[in-house]
Amino acid sequence: MVDYVNIFMSRLQAKNPGETEFHQAVQEVVESLSLVLDRHPEYRSAKILERMVEPERTITFRVPWMDDQGEIQVNRGYRIEMSSAIGPYKGGLRLHPSVNLGILKFLAFEQVFKNSLTTLPMGGGKGGSDFDPKGKSNNEVMRFCQSFMTELYRHIGPDTDVPAGDIGVGGREIGFLFGQYKRLRNEFTGVLTGKGLNWGGSLIRPEATGYGCVYFAAEMLATRGQTMEGKTCLVSGSGNVSQYTIEKILQLGGKVVTVSDSDGYVYDEEGIDAAKLQFIMELKNVRRGRIKAYTEKYKSAVYAPVDHAKDYNPLWDYKADCAFPSATQNEINAKDARNLLKNGVYVIGEGANMPTHLEGVRQFLDAKILYAPGKAANAGGVAVSGLEMSQNSMRLPWTKQEVDDRLSIIMKSIHATCVECADRFGTPGNYVNGANIGGFLKVADAMMDQGLV
Ligand code: NAP
Repeated sequence: MVDYVNIFMSRLQAKNPGETEFHQAVQEVVESLSLVLDRHPEYRSAKILERMVEPERTITFRVPWMDDQGEIQVNRGYRIEMSSAIGPYKGGLRLHPSVNLGILKFLAFEQVFKNSLTTLPMGGGKGGSDFDPKGKSNNEVMRFCQSFMTELYRHIGPDTDVPAGDIGVGGREIGFLFGQYKRLRNEFTGVLTGKGLNWGGSLIRPEATGYGCVYFAAEMLATRGQTMEGKTCLVSGSGNVSQYTIEKILQLGGKVVTVSDSDGYVYDEEGIDAAKLQFIMELKNVRRGRIKAYTEKYKSAVYAPVDHAKDYNPLWDYKADCAFPSATQNEINAKDARNLLKNGVYVIGEGANMPTHLEGVRQFLDAKILYAPGKAANAGGVAVSGLEMSQNSMRLPWTKQEVDDRLSIIMKSIHATCVECADRFGTPGNYVNGANIGGFLKVADAMMDQGLV
């Protein structure tokens, strides 16, 4: 089987040169799935995995727009429609200068497994652009979003492909994208999720990824008879996922001591309480400022700018019980992983997608800590997006409590699937194998049923 993984990976790398994040995401999954393919040669002969790594459709397009100075700008737009085996393509849009085909393919690939784990009927996709919303005016963001949707609208639809937010895409951007879609199609449908509450959005959608990640961590702790109460937590990022991860940790009695953005991080030994979190939300969501401003307001906290000369991130080098990486991919390297373990961290909930390098993942698995990979831990966001789609189809909104209860049930069910699949394939406690196998089986069986498409 080692041979199979090696041959599979060298073919994938040759066919998709330079797409390092995509290679990384597939490598982790193929290693887990070798356990399944050993027992189920029918998946191997049907070339299920070979088909799953090839997007059903990849769309790239020009996004021209005019800035406030009257200069013409040109960005590149993408949508990767990875798999529709169990439902319409579903996955976020990312606006960040680092966006490229390899990053979006890794995200789309992971999304297929994640969406399958939610128990809801959603296929996988991802999209975005190398447009950088940072420092842009509202009007510039609107003009970009309108231009982006002017091409994207012909490829998406409530029964075809339903995008949502991701890095750089929050309520403001979803609003501009939705407005343009509606104008072009002359239809009011649930074509995007993460919509505003008064025009088809779901309660708890903004909170869902962060809340869900902490629910998952609480489930893992419960397997050891413990709770979040009194746990010291490291959180990275200060965007949507981080903010609601912090909120739920506080509600469950934990303490959060770090937060960051792409310029640097804050360490607050006294803990980020509800009032400080409110400050962060206002700073990031309304003023669109930098996290450094936190230490100008709260003098006891310290700020450290990103130091590119360091081969590790000092944010991960504090004594703590739990870590919730919630910024971006590969933010925990092998040295960071060693530091986390050395400092006593034994619970990791990945709010971000693939925040840990493969060597870091191996260390966490070897140390047998409670390590929840992103495709399981951060599935709450897309799960509530799925619930938003249901509410849109019924044209009936659910209450906050109803959606939160469903989110909590879904996170418990994902946890149970991971535990059960890890056990069944001989690796108890290994949530990476559990999530990869659990997500795979449903999609693979649907593909077997649907013939060679
Ligand atoms: P967001 O609101 O845009 O926040 C992203 C945060 O991460 C910001 O603090 C940002 O700092 C920081 N960040 C982004 N790129 C970075 C980089 N290259 N280096 C260092 N810091 C960086 O995005 P989000 O929705 O919270 O998403 C965060 C992560 O969660 C992503 O991995 C995303 O794929 C994943 N995720 C999100 C959802 C969701 O529902 N939103 C669901 C599942 C998974 P700056 O402001 O300085 O850029």
